[in-house]
Amino acid sequence: MLSSLGTRSRIDLHLHTTRSDGAFSPEETLLKCARSGLDIVALTDHDLVNDITPGLRRVDDRDLWVIAGAEISGMHEGTEYHLLVYFPGAVPQRFRALCQQQCEQRAQRYDIAIQTLSVSGLVASDASARAGQRALTRLHLAQGLVTAGHATHIGDAFSRFVGNRAGTVPKLTLPYTEAIRIANECGGLTSWAHPNPDDIERHLSTLVKAGLHGVEALRPTTTRRTRNILRRAAKRHGLFLTGGSDWHGWAGAQVGLFGLQIHEISGFIDALEAA
Ligand SMILES: [Zn+2]
Ligand SMILES: [Zn+2]
Repeated sequence: MLSSLGTRSRIDLHLHTTRSDGAFSPEETLLKCARSGLDIVALTDHDLVNDITPGLRRVDDRDLWVIAGAEISGMHEGTEYHLLVYFPGAVPQRFRALCQQQCEQRAQRYDIAIQTLSVSGLVASDASARAGQRALTRLHLAQGLVTAGHATHIGDAFSRFVGNRAGTVPKLTLPYTEAIRIANECGGLTSWAHPNPDDIERHLSTLVKAGLHGVEALRPTTTRRTRNILRRAAKRHGLFLTGGSDWHGWAGAQVGLFGLQIHEISGFIDALEAA
């Protein structure tokens, strides 16, 4: 039982690995989590569930509870939003199939973007990406542009080549509400990743009707004002709160500097244990 891990447990429910746009493999990430004093973690790669067996494991002589999860990208009223999905145990095949399809489409969009950009030195998607084994993202494209000398840094690559406004990367096709529905049918718990207050105001009712369970309100970069707005909205709709660092491991960023306590996300823990 998760709740038996103790009230002093430190938790991070939003982490990325090399299976999408993170810098460290799932195993390396778990090792870093254990060494940094985290007790409960979820690896939430973009549109991908990794092969780590969920549950309690011993890492570097420390107990670490791993929750299976993913961060799904979907479209709602013309804008891309992210959905965190968590599972009480192993991930059902149907949800893995959704992730596989999303990753295959990511590889296709990546290759179309390379054709559209039409610059030297960019490498097309590899077999593992096309087979849905890893999720290619705009960051990979931006890194390629920097390596090939077309952009001075990642931010430059985003603003000139791969950001939304550049229009080089085709839009997603999965409706966000459909992602919520499938996650629900697969027994997953859903949380709207990093929502901003305006979007909450505009879309939360619709997404709750679609089956959304929670909002990611507890993040290191969220202001107190935003956190309060999200907290009030969650309460109004009977949603739980989740949180995490959204750590990718780039530029020496350390995992574990941000850690939640069980009482901050008790609604989520209860729902996960009841699921
Ligand atoms: Zn996200
Ligand atoms: Zn993320």
